[in-house]
Amino acid sequence: MSSAKAKTIATREAKNRRTRIVATIGPASDSPEVLRKMADAGMDVARIPLAHGSIEDAIARVKRVRETAPEVGILADLPGPKIRASEFPKGGVVLATGSEVVLGSSEEIKESSANAIGVSNPDIVAGLEEDDLVAIGDGGVSLRVISVTGKGIKAVVRAGGKVQGRPGVTVPTSRVQLVTPTKEDLERLHALVEVGVEMVAISFVRSAADVESVRRAAGPEAPLLCAKIETPQGVLEIDRILETADMVMVARGDMGVRLPLEDVPHIQKQIIRSGVRYGRPVITATQMLESMITSLVPTRAEVTDVANAVLDGSSAVMLSAETAVGVDPVNVIATMSKIVERSEENFDYITWGNELGAQQISGPSSAPERITAAITSAAWRAAVEQDAKAIIACTSSGATARAISRFRPPMPILATTPYQRTAHQLTVSWGVDSLVVQKVKSTDDVVWFAVQAAVDNGYARSGDVVVVLAGSPDEANPIADTLRIVRIA
Ligand code: PEP
Repeated sequence: MSSAKAKTIATREAKNRRTRIVATIGPASDSPEVLRKMADAGMDVARIPLAHGSIEDAIARVKRVRETAPEVGILADLPGPKIRASEFPKGGVVLATGSEVVLGSSEEIKESSANAIGVSNPDIVAGLEEDDLVAIGDGGVSLRVISVTGKGIKAVVRAGGKVQGRPGVTVPTSRVQLVTPTKEDLERLHALVEVGVEMVAISFVRSAADVESVRRAAGPEAPLLCAKIETPQGVLEIDRILETADMVMVARGDMGVRLPLEDVPHIQKQIIRSGVRYGRPVITATQMLESMITSLVPTRAEVTDVANAVLDGSSAVMLSAETAVGVDPVNVIATMSKIVERSEENFDYITWGNELGAQQISGPSSAPERITAAITSAAWRAAVEQDAKAIIACTSSGATARAISRFRPPMPILATTPYQRTAHQLTVSWGVDSLVVQKVKSTDDVVWFAVQAAVDNGYARSGDVVVVLAGSPDEANPIADTLRIVRIA
């Protein structure tokens, strides 16, 4: 057999880190130079938020990331029915505790200031009553309505602070039923599908039906769908959402406004564990290195938060404003990468595989799902017992690689796939490196080329044992049903 032609997608050398890093792109990270440095510093996935700017701006960002850092995955984030303030002046303003502000619709107040805040949903403004509490942004800044008259709504700043951009506006006792996805979400989705975005996040998912309606609208080329869990209903419905969604995000920002703050760490752990049982990647998000928006070093508490998110078993940890508008996005990623690597030194891989890998659920159990569950369990055990150098998952859709990733094996997981899109979708999966390899005709060739690609790219060498999961290359039957333990000659 001739030597395999494997194209390496994972160009970073430092593949020691298993937990992935998602970084939000914004004005601070738009230049190709910064984007390239962010990828080199460890950005695995670029998150493109659609809450700010036009769809054209977002598509331009998608193209810029693709051109500058082709190995990086892209997660576009649909904002859903989030109510936002009209834009604050560049650089932000400080709302002083005790000061008074006027609230009005964003039609009336087109630009927010320290004295007046525009709100994007006029029904919310019209429904406000005296003593209502209104949170601005992720809840650090809050207002209390003090008078509602024909002349407008006045509020006093209960807890002051700096506000910038177009922060969210939350009325905890919301009297308006918000529906996700919105009409605007679906319009944006079509543009994203057209440009080939491989992962899309849906905000404010409350039920499996919310995810299903996005999937239906996306059509046959649907990207992987990430359900953002940030409401009490989303938390209650987590199992059914996990049956339907391809991955979930612990969206701690809005979650901390809509649920008691002290519940957030426990909900985080619960969602991660549930996600692992369903074999779905889980992204832990928001305020992870918040102080680095303005500072070059994180706080001790932030470092501990990132480390704990890794030990909880997050597939990926996410940066938001830190990389979108922060002073030094590259430094933020390097800092997060260092914290993650150090934390993983204390990760108990074997206990995790024995305890959580064994608890796998694949939704309403179909025969192919039961086969995947059985074969990945066997692969994990074989790899640990044989002290294998790598587990190789030969995969078309990425499903086999995601299924073995849930065991958090101590050795590298290498996904070989003929599809670039699959490789991009696996950038968010814990511990999975991807190589794009040529398409071949038989299972024997699939295995042989995959092992060759592993050797060519330094994952194993002569004398090593690797564990390989493969299926028939038949597109109609992409389930992995073959486990081989290969000693490399
Ligand atoms: C969050 O609320 O934590 C979140 C990730 O969503 P967004 O950044 O869109 O508010």
